[in-house]
Amino acid sequence: MADLPLLSIDVSIARESFLLECRLDIHGKCTAIFGPSGAGKSTLLDLINGNLSPDRGIIKLGKEILVDTSTQAFKAPYQRQIGWVPQDALLFPHLNVIDNLLFGHRRRRDSSHSSPSPHQVIGVLGLDRLLARWPRELSGGEKQRVALGRALLSNSKLLLLDEPLASLDAKKRSEILDLLDEIKHEFNIPIVHVTHSLAEVMRLADQLVLIDQGKIKAAGSIESLMGKADTPMLSDRRDAGSLLKLNDLTLVEGRPAVGLLEGQSLFLPLQAGEWRLPARALPLRVYVPAHEVILALEPPNGLSVRNKLACRIERLIPQTSQTMLVELAIGQQRLLASVTTAASEELGLRADLPVYALIKSLSLDVPAGRNLLSDSEHL
Ligand code: ADP
Ligand code: MG
Repeated sequence: MADLPLLSIDVSIARESFLLECRLDIHGKCTAIFGPSGAGKSTLLDLINGNLSPDRGIIKLGKEILVDTSTQAFKAPYQRQIGWVPQDALLFPHLNVIDNLLFGHRRRRDSSHSSPSPHQVIGVLGLDRLLARWPRELSGGEKQRVALGRALLSNSKLLLLDEPLASLDAKKRSEILDLLDEIKHEFNIPIVHVTHSLAEVMRLADQLVLIDQGKIKAAGSIESLMGKADTPMLSDRRDAGSLLKLNDLTLVEGRPAVGLLEGQSLFLPLQAGEWRLPARALPLRVYVPAHEVILALEPPNGLSVRNKLACRIERLIPQTSQTMLVELAIGQQRLLASVTTAASEELGLRADLPVYALIKSLSLDVPAGRNLLSDSEHL
């Protein structure tokens, strides 16, 4: 059954004045749960890992029932084979790093499914030099890496990460992002991570769950949710934009990288140099902010803009009192452009109209770009 969801959730829980009501199937290797502070993200993770029991409902991990209030079935956290990394990376203060790492590993040696070895995990997370240290001798980022390692080694069928980057500075954040990317590719363990950063979502996740005030607002693949002009919580943001997937990339030394988007070229703000493109980077994701896209009825001449994509208008949705969000189809992919209502009327924009989307290559963001530039050491 290829279609069996990783997690299937149908629960409600009341916490004082807060009510979480959620029906959700989670598929995919890496799912981001995205929403503002207080939305119920940590509560949802606590229901999955067994720290909380729902007032009503059922949660299944594959075929395994984790909790079912109708039959009073409830698996305790230690019975769930779920690795959980809370925001504050709790380590056992009386155990040094290696014993923290091996804590769950020893206890669950009986497990039948394969999981990464301590050697692999220590290597990927760069923990070799920390093994004899005590938690009080570690920085925030180091603690976070040990907590991740411990979760990876606990024979988990699923990794739950609660804002793994929130308490770190920008440099550490990008290091841990690289590591999570590595974990995603190295170890065959699905990840569900909570975040309120769209940048983190675009870098790591395949699937996206949008949650606000205890309710699921939308769920699906990240490209499909970001490409629609009416996705709650995304399309009304100032930085609303879409993610394009490039299936091919041409790199010529000293020239800008050129991606292939449904048969059309897209010039990227990456200069091809000594770096190589790891196969796993494809399809490459490119983020295009909607307010950076200009629409033209005719293919323009004499402009410095590199990217002129032939598209068709799928639909127009009012975004603010003065702007429209235009959903454009380029083959199967969707690109969003925001234009003023006045400009939209002047050009006569309407569904099915063929148009050209003009995008400066400098307006494009390649969330994994840094990884491409530095990847040679990993290969
Ligand atoms: P998020 O992780 O999205 O920021 P939480 O799941 O932590 O949100 O919290 C959702 C709501 O539940 C908040 O309104 C919060 O005040 C409330 N809440 C969280 N923990 C408790 C608790 N232990 N007791 C009562 N209410 C709680
Ligand atoms: Mg939280």
